[in-house]
Amino acid sequence: MKAEIIAVGTELLLGQILNTNAQYLAQSCADLGVSVYFQTVVGDNMSRLTEALQTAKGRADLIICTGGLGPTQDDLTKDALAAFLGRQIIMHQPSMDAIEAMFSTRGIHMVESNRRQALMLDNSDPLTNDAGLAVGIALTQDQTHYVLLPGPPKEMKPMFERYAAPWISSKMNHVHPLFSRMLKFAGIGESSLEHELLDLIKAQTDPSIAPYAKEGEVAIRLTTRAGSEAEAAVKLDPMEREIRSRLGQYVYAAEDVTLEQEIVHILSSRKQLLAAAESCTGGLFSNMLTSVPGSSAVYRGGIICYSNILKHRLLNVPMDVLEGPGAPGAISAEAAKILAEQMLAQAGSDYAVAITGVAGPDSSEGKPVGLVYVGIASTQGETVVEQLQLTGNRDSIKWRAAKSALYKLWKLL
Ligand code: ATP
Ligand code: MG
Repeated sequence: MKAEIIAVGTELLLGQILNTNAQYLAQSCADLGVSVYFQTVVGDNMSRLTEALQTAKGRADLIICTGGLGPTQDDLTKDALAAFLGRQIIMHQPSMDAIEAMFSTRGIHMVESNRRQALMLDNSDPLTNDAGLAVGIALTQDQTHYVLLPGPPKEMKPMFERYAAPWISSKMNHVHPLFSRMLKFAGIGESSLEHELLDLIKAQTDPSIAPYAKEGEVAIRLTTRAGSEAEAAVKLDPMEREIRSRLGQYVYAAEDVTLEQEIVHILSSRKQLLAAAESCTGGLFSNMLTSVPGSSAVYRGGIICYSNILKHRLLNVPMDVLEGPGAPGAISAEAAKILAEQMLAQAGSDYAVAITGVAGPDSSEGKPVGLVYVGIASTQGETVVEQLQLTGNRDSIKWRAAKSALYKLWKLL
């Protein structure tokens, strides 16, 4: 079954609200085994809404609209669909009773427009609104299925889950649901990853292979349709094995987790502790780690030693390493090593990460923007220091420095 999601609302077009309904519906459709081919956003405008319905009808078996079921004049979705399909608008009495009961219990005066929320189309199935007033609608005409849902997510989601999803399932010729698996990579860019898997990606049929990247994280999603988890595994396992045989060293997880989640997971399973000394990242590394629930069991804390004074006072980096003629400087392998080792000693942790570098936009100590040193000290072995040359603006250099430090730490772990 091919679906199109139409989100109705001028606020969406103006950028005043984010179209989270489309995201929810797209995910829910995938879970049902419905393929969403298009998503449309249209304003509260009769002729453009009709145009959107017309277009969707030409390319979808299922059209799901959200928004515009309310009482006000700009709520047009039911009127538009009724006109489009040439159907009568009728009153859904149980909804009307519920609306009247709600107003009388609360002792508020009901205005005429509230009656609009109980309207539906003739020969359609009402979708109960357990969290609000406007009734939803499901109907089939000329082999196309239409589902109208309210705009407010707290009304739309329960209506979809409890009433629309079973209705849609009942119309399907029992297509198997989608099963997918996510492989997460670190330390390899999107293009190199694609290059290594190009033959598989080009030849893909079932399972499908979709690489995707968001802010420094690269992932591959393998997807297949199957009657059960076990049946899906038969198709997904060989493909995952093939990908791992090529790129296994970069795979840090087989589920949708971040690198910091994985690190917290590894450290806590080993009952080990971590600390951080951060200069150019200004606490970002610590922020990433502490965003993970349960990080308190593994993350001792850190020191943001942004100035040379604090690198010296709090972490005992000798001033003649940091400054002066011939000194390596604060942005150096020497400084990163001392920072990491001192942090380890002070925190009494098993690992300590130090990050020092030039975030830009100006160079510092005569060193180029993007030059970053990551030091990792541990009670298990020698301190390692890596030099990175990162690109981007100040924010992305800070971000990449923190992510690279996470990657180095993960490799070491
Ligand atoms: P109401 O009875 O509140 O008028 P409605 O069904 O007519 O509901 P809209 O008027 O289109 O829906 O939207 C009401 C509110 O619901 C919006 O102000 C917005 O907060 C939220 N909303 C609508 N559409 C979306 C969407 N696509 N994604 C997220 N939120 C949405
Ligand atoms: Mg409205």
